[in-house]
Amino acid sequence: MTHIPGIVITGASGRMGQMLIRTVTDSDQARLVGVVERTGHDWVGQDVGVAMGGAALGVTVTDDPLEAFAQAQAVIDFTAPEATLEFAALAAQARCVHVIGTTGMSDEQIAALEPASRHAVIVRAGNMSLGVNLLVQLTKKVAAALDEDFDIEVIEGHHHHKVDAPSGTALMLGEAAAEGRGVDLAEVSDRGRDGMTGARKRGDIGFHAIRGGDIVGEHDVLFAAPGERIVLRHLATDRAIFARGALKAALWGQGKAPGQYDMVDVLGL
Ligand code: NAP
Repeated sequence: MTHIPGIVITGASGRMGQMLIRTVTDSDQARLVGVVERTGHDWVGQDVGVAMGGAALGVTVTDDPLEAFAQAQAVIDFTAPEATLEFAALAAQARCVHVIGTTGMSDEQIAALEPASRHAVIVRAGNMSLGVNLLVQLTKKVAAALDEDFDIEVIEGHHHHKVDAPSGTALMLGEAAAEGRGVDLAEVSDRGRDGMTGARKRGDIGFHAIRGGDIVGEHDVLFAAPGERIVLRHLATDRAIFARGALKAALWGQGKAPGQYDMVDVLGL
């Protein structure tokens, strides 16, 4: 009989946390073995299915991540940067695959994942969907094919609860455009113009964030030149696409050498 990996979900009560719990429990390729919430959260000590307003799932919400990780082969984590750093150290200690969907991490926070990745597999991506990862590859190709007559702008939209901007996905797309063009994004990035900004600088890559209602995630990469425009667009209408991608990453990571990977590795793009 093949071994079915046990999965722990962190940030259980969050929008993505609940979607991940449903995705893992619906899958016959993985088992839900733990769910973590922070100390003091009213879900701690309850059956997670009941806490979510449904039938019992036989898994009690805990505020002890290490104890939960010790029972698991993978941790799927869509929380917040400080929490993700703490979970990375504990997942490495438990030798679990750590799938990180958390966005808004600073360069220092990303660098701080390095010690954990020497002991365990980390799969981190600002967007876990197949469609967006394809869009990243397309963006790289289109940017490589066009010269700086084409101004590149990344425009993203998300729900009104989102706390970071630009989105992790917008940054992935900007990085891909910069890579295609052979430039350093940090040198050409122009975020959220306001006021007397002066004319657009040739070669810049612009970022703009829309926040409203229940938008799950929308991304356009605009290539605009005199006389013509190309728009590459991805529209997410259901968070399940991120959860399915994250589960795929958790399964893919089993038995891989310790290190840091992304969804391009998982999807073989
Ligand atoms: P959310 O609804 O606010 O959920 C966040 C969860 O994380 C909550 O359960 C929250 O608990 C928990 N959390 C936050 N800080 C914590 C801490 N310091 N310690 C322990 N738990 C903590 O947010 P969401 O919409 O699910 O998004 C979560 C993250 O995933 C965001 O960074 C978002 O951008 C990202 N995301 C990534 C993808 C992708 O494909 N990579 C897709 C969608 C979203 P409390 O309620 O107690 O604060």
